[in-house]
Amino acid sequence: MPILSPPPKSFSVTVPVLIVGGGACGLTAALAARGEGSEVLILEKDTIPRGTTSMSQGTMCAAGTRAQKDAGIEDSPEQFFEDVMAKVEGKTDPEFVRVITREAAPTIDWLSADHGIPFAVDRSWNGLGHSVQRLHAPPEKTGEDLMGRLLQAVARAGADLLTDATVVDLFADESGRVLGVRVERPDGSQEDIGCDALILATCGFANNPDMIAQFIPDMAGAHVFTWENSQGNGIRWGLDLGAAVADMTSFQGYGALAHPQEMLFNYNYVIDGGVLVNKRGERFSDEMADVSGQGVKVMRQPDHVAYMIYDEILHNKYKHLHETRQALEVGAVKTGASVSELASALDIPQDALQRTLADLADAKAGKSNDAWGRDFFGTHDLAPPYYGIRVTGAIYHTQGGLEVDENAQVKRASGGLLPNLFAGGGAARGMSGPTCSGYIPAAGICMAMTLGRLAGQAAARLNN
Ligand SMILES: Cc1cc2nc3c(=O)[nH]c(=O)nc-3n(C[C@H](O)[C@H](O)[C@H](O)COP(=O)(O)OP(=O)(O)OC[C@H]3O[C@@H](n4cnc5c(N)ncnc54)[C@H](O)[C@@H]3O)c2cc1C
Repeated sequence: MPILSPPPKSFSVTVPVLIVGGGACGLTAALAARGEGSEVLILEKDTIPRGTTSMSQGTMCAAGTRAQKDAGIEDSPEQFFEDVMAKVEGKTDPEFVRVITREAAPTIDWLSADHGIPFAVDRSWNGLGHSVQRLHAPPEKTGEDLMGRLLQAVARAGADLLTDATVVDLFADESGRVLGVRVERPDGSQEDIGCDALILATCGFANNPDMIAQFIPDMAGAHVFTWENSQGNGIRWGLDLGAAVADMTSFQGYGALAHPQEMLFNYNYVIDGGVLVNKRGERFSDEMADVSGQGVKVMRQPDHVAYMIYDEILHNKYKHLHETRQALEVGAVKTGASVSELASALDIPQDALQRTLADLADAKAGKSNDAWGRDFFGTHDLAPPYYGIRVTGAIYHTQGGLEVDENAQVKRASGGLLPNLFAGGGAARGMSGPTCSGYIPAAGICMAMTLGRLAGQAAARLNN
């Protein structure tokens, strides 16, 4: 994917704001650019835009939103900032985190008020780094639904979207100004499109084994569950143009992917008092310490699997969730009238699971300290019948990427800014710091839509 120079004598068409990638970031950027009165064209590789966004639960963190106020939740960008900095143990750029934590709420409020996307606070998510309830999602709480609503909004706003359009090259001059892109269609034909400003919304590099081996060598060969087009295209173009990158070792992991069905399973069961045990029937972690790092802990267990154990109270509370319904339909969830029956259904040692759940009951009753240091405050004692599901860990998406300023404009490694290049979502550096443990829940969509809005606005204003 080289940077091509010189450009063609003329482009077939030139647009003020060109966006590569039609996921949450690209679509939000398009809405923002249209809001500034700019013409905009989104180029999307797939026939139907879905992206990593469609795999998500469609939730985004933000602090101080109207939805939070309506729900009686007191929160502020300052508190959000403190929570993120605590999660990353101070190991990130505070100025960048200030921008994201300040701009996330206006992004949600604007998408709700101007584009009819009804975000509400997801009250089922507590803790895991957020000191108050600040996860927001459209009613269905799925990424598919979020994508559907964004696509409808983009159509209403009059932004152009060209699908089956893979950007294969960029044209740039010696100053690093992007002049246009080369697009390849499924029949192999190519077209060159010019632009005044370019927004890279191509997500990260989770599905590029070479880049994983280069930047996150510890995770080379690890299980990956992500969108196939997350191949780091935008990051590589940025690097070729001399952009700065940061936190390239960082990623979001997850330790609750139904296995072998390869389906996302809800963590709510754990949050509300369920636990994870390994093939030996033993717990191996404080499951609430770090939801992203939990993925790596699961990957380190025998056969790289774990079993989420919960009870009928939790089953009834969350069985309506989309992911749970799917898992129930395919028979991934097992039940047992007793601990022994559940152990047999899951094919793990009965005695060990009995001991584990007895220890758990003691810890919940305050008779002993939890061996893993987990605080079970507010959770109930698990009671029969019991439920369990085999899960594995995976890399979901990478968190490192192009460094951007407060307008989502890409920084040069040598200082200053590239003249007309913007980035957001997985293509940009996240706010998770250098490791997988710094990921705070729902930061992925937050980075995509917040930076998307900032990029769309600034790219459009560049031409005014
Ligand atoms: C299973 C799973 C669950 C998750 N759950 C959550 C969650 O609930 N909350 C949260 O905040 N985050 C979640 N995340 C992370 C979140 O989904 C991502 O951070 C976010 O969707 C990134 O948005 P994006 O727009 O940058 O990328 P994407 O949504 O992946 O969009 C990028 C688009 O660019 C296109 N593209 C790539 N290269 C080219 C090219 N060369 N030419 C044209 N088009 C191209 C792709 O086809 C794709 O449509 C989850 C991730 C996974 C994998």
